[in-house]
Amino acid sequence: MIESRCGILCDKCEYQEKMGCGGCVHIDKPFWGDSCPVKSCCEGKGLEHCGKCDDFPCELLNQFAYDKEHGDNGKRIEQCRKWA
Ligand code: SF4
Ligand code: SF4
Repeated sequence: MIESRCGILCDKCEYQEKMGCGGCVHIDKPFWGDSCPVKSCCEGKGLEHCGKCDDFPCELLNQFAYDKEHGDNGKRIEQCRKWA
């Protein structure tokens, strides 16, 4: 069972409880904004998660995964590889 489009594991996320986030696979838009470019891209391609994409891991996903403030040092990319 996948938990997100980008490889984030929701059960390890502090916002699940704090924000009542159901995980981006189950909601139309993320709690933190109108849209997530990764979610939109992935769903626009009709893919379950980024690991199934021919362009994986793309520049956009890398930017998110290695963001200094919000990234996880690439963990989500590894997770996508496991799901794939
Ligand atoms: S960053 Fe985007 S794709 Fe990743 S879990 Fe959040 S909403 Fe989903
Ligand atoms: S790996 Fe990049 S191009 Fe592929 S679905 Fe994810 S965000 Fe889109």
